[in-house]
Formats: sequence, C-alpha cells, structure tokens
Amino acid sequence: MIRRLARSLPFRLNAGLILIYLCASGVVFYFFSLGLNRYLNHRLDEYLETEMLSVTSDHDFSMLPGNLEAVGQAFTRFGHSHGTLGAFMVLLSEHGDILASSDLKYFGDHDFSLITQKQLTSTSFLWETLELSGQPFRVITYQAPEGVILQIGFSMQETRELYASMQKQFAIALFSILVVGGFGGLIFGFLALKGLGQVREKAQLIRMRGDLNERVPTPTGSLETDELAGTMNAMLERIQDLVENLNYVMDNIAHDIRTPVTRMRGHAEMHLSGKNLSDREMEIAGQVIEECDQILNLVNILLEITAADSGLFQPSNQEIDAATMVRDGCELFEPVWESKEIQVAFECPDSFPWFGDPRILQRILSNLVDNAIKYCPHGGKISIELKDKDDALLLCVSDSGPGIDIHEQELVFQRFYRCQAARTQKGNGLGLSFCRSIAEAVGGSLSLDSELGKGSTFCLELPKATKT
Ligand code: ADP
Repeated sequence: MIRRLARSLPFRLNAGLILIYLCASGVVFYFFSLGLNRYLNHRLDEYLETEMLSVTSDHDFSMLPGNLEAVGQAFTRFGHSHGTLGAFMVLLSEHGDILASSDLKYFGDHDFSLITQKQLTSTSFLWETLELSGQPFRVITYQAPEGVILQIGFSMQETRELYASMQKQFAIALFSILVVGGFGGLIFGFLALKGLGQVREKAQLIRMRGDLNERVPTPTGSLETDELAGTMNAMLERIQDLVENLNYVMDNIAHDIRTPVTRMRGHAEMHLSGKNLSDREMEIAGQVIEECDQILNLVNILLEITAADSGLFQPSNQEIDAATMVRDGCELFEPVWESKEIQVAFECPDSFPWFGDPRILQRILSNLVDNAIKYCPHGGKISIELKDKDDALLLCVSDSGPGIDIHEQELVFQRFYRCQAARTQKGNGLGLSFCRSIAEAVGGSLSLDSELGKGSTFCLELPKATKT
C-alpha cells in the first residue's frame, strides 16, 4: 500500500514540489533572518547614537567637576528608566576613573577602565558588542574633546528575544504552508487523476471479462482524462465493429461450408454402400465421412452459438428429473474416467424436478464433464454436484486439473480461445463459448472459479422455467 502510494504520480509530483519548496523556503528563511538581525541591530545602534548625542549636548564637560552631580543624577535616571541590567551609562576620566555613572552594582565584575587601552578619538564613536554579567550588550564609546570618556551600553537581550520569536513565527508559518500545501497537493493530485484510474479500471475489466460493450463513463473530472476516455471508447467501438464483422463473416462461411460438406458426406456414404469396393476405398470413404462429421460439428456449433447470441434459439419447456439426467449423462463418461483412474464424487439428490429444455442441460453437462476428464491428470479427482440455489438449478463440476490463470478465466468463454497448456489436447475452443451462450439465452449463467495449479470449478446456474 505504502509502496504503491510512493510510486503514484501525485505523490511523486508533490514530493518534487515539497523539495523545491523546502529549498526555496530555506533561502527565504536565511535572507529573512539576516535582514531581521541587521534591522534590529541597526535600530539599537541608532538608539544608542541618539542617546550619546543627547548626553553630549545636554552636558557641558568643560564645566567638570562643577556639574558632576547633575551629570550623575541624569545617568542614574537613565539607568533606572531601563531597569536592572537593561542599560548603563558611565563617564570616565582619561585615566579610566569613574566620574559619574548609572547604578553599576549589577556590572560589578566588569572593569570599565579597560576602555582606556583602546584607540579612541574625539571624531568618531567606538562600537562594540560585549558580554556583561552573562548578557550581550551593545556598547558605544566616545572620547569628548575635554578628555573624558563617555560610554553607553544597552542590553541586546530583548532584541535577541524578539529576533528568536520572529524567527520561530516565520518557521511555523513556513512549516504550516508545507503541511497544508503537501496534503492539499496530494488530495488535489489524486482528484485530478481519478479519471485516469477510471480509465484503467475499465480497461482492466474489459480485458478480464472480454466484454466489448463496456465503455468508460465520461466526464471523468479533467480535460486530459476525458480525452483519454473518449479515445479509448472510440477504440472499443472500432474493435467491437471489427469483431462483429468477423463473426458475421464466420457465420456466412459456416453456412456456405455446411451445404457442400453435407453433400460430400452423402457421396461418401453412397460410395460406402456400393458393392465391389476394395478395402482401401472403404477406408478412404470412412475417413471422408469422419472428417466431414468433424467439419459439420464445428460449423453446427458455430451456428448454434450465433443463434443463441442473437436470440434465435427457441428453448423447449419440459418437466424432467434433472438428477436422473445428470446421473445418466455422467454414466456415459464412466469408461473414459476409469481408463484415467480418476476418482469421481457425486453429490446429487435422488430426484430434482425441473422445468426447462433438457438439451441445454445435457449439452452443458457433457461439455463440462468432458473438459474435466480431458484436463484432469491421471489419477486425479472430479466432483459433480447438483443442488437447488434460490429456486434455480445449480450444477458444479470441479476437477483437480491444472487450473486456469486469472487473466484467462474470461477468455476461455470466447470462441476458439484455448489456453496455451491445453493446445496439446484435442479440441476446438468452442465448447465453453457454446455452453455460456445457451445458458445465457435462457436467463442462466456459467461461471468459473479456478486457481492455477489447483484445479477449476465450472458452475452452471439455470432458472427453473415455469410450467406452461
Ligand atoms: P476445448 O475444445 O479446447 O476444450 P473449450 O471451449 O471447452 O474448448 O475450452 C476452452 C479452453 O478452456 C480449453 O482449451 C482449455 O484451455 C480451458 N479449459 C476448459 N476446461 C478446463 C478445465 N477443466 N481445466 C483446465 N482448463 C480448461
């Protein structure tokens, strides 16, 4: 089941699309993350720069240490407004001594004087990202022309959390699209190819049943599959025409052959009844009669099939005991099955009153029993069962013969069809075709249940005709 799904066209198409989507989403995700990170860092840098400019313009460092208290208060306010470990602001002497600062008690382990070791100018800012008290900080440093160093740091924790949260949201959105798109694509794919499945199923059915009257129902759901179904239906129509023409030609030939062959047989018979014939002449006349009988038998079956198929067969309606008929009919084959040492089992009621045409039952019974014996191996088994089924007569003939391949089980009911393995046996491939035609002509059926290597069971079902 899973293997079948994995090999299906919608699955493969979808898998390809998902792969492309995954690659595309990966690229989009990468550039999105990069852009977002840059944007958030840029916003933070802008904020720090604004703070730095505002502090340097608010306080005149040339007045130090006179205004040191006011500077210290402003720094403390700044620190409080951003909470614990949110931000810091510090003013250092050019030797690294802290002159004023926001509350630095949470940054206790950091040595702010280290900044004096770095290259500072009074014309540009120094940008750094530092790890302070276990948290990332973006830090801006500026050395005022008066020599003092001003440093402002802002925690990047919030920015990083915002970045991670947006990344997560974006990944969830991409994943949801992937899941919904994947399942949706699979469902739509299967719906779109439903028509293709219908065409395939119908084609398989026609192949198994050999019924050329079947057609693929349209519309199938999509333009392409409609076109395919239309082409297939047109092809079936053409094949059906050809087969009908072939049958028509065959029936005509059969008709035309019957008269001269019957005449030829008559001549041979006349010749045989004449006097002064040598042994050789008698042998040849006998062979001619035998060959003529075979041809006439074949021709007659062909014509009978056509008559049954076209509704020209007129069944009689007689009251008979089907059980006696089956037993008597089978008895005729006793010498043949005994010569092959076949065990025959009967399951037949003492009597089985039935209304119908006895010729039909006789012909089908002898065909089925003849086949069972013919295809059964030496020492094999045959069972013949007669019973009542829903007010119909059911006759089943089973054998332990070679069985018939599933693909051939409907074909054996077609005219002249013979399985490859049966070609060595005598026969013409018309028996089963004839049996099914006459069974169906009276509203009955002939079915086959077989397994290769195990045997076959042919079941004839005939409705009980009403007494007239
Ligand atoms: P045939 O004259 O060839 O027996 P049928 O129409 O009676 O013609 O049967 C058609 C084909 O079906 C046979 O050629 C044989 O291949 C197959 N067949 C019929 N009956 C049996 C059976 N009992 N076991 C196996 N194959 C069978």
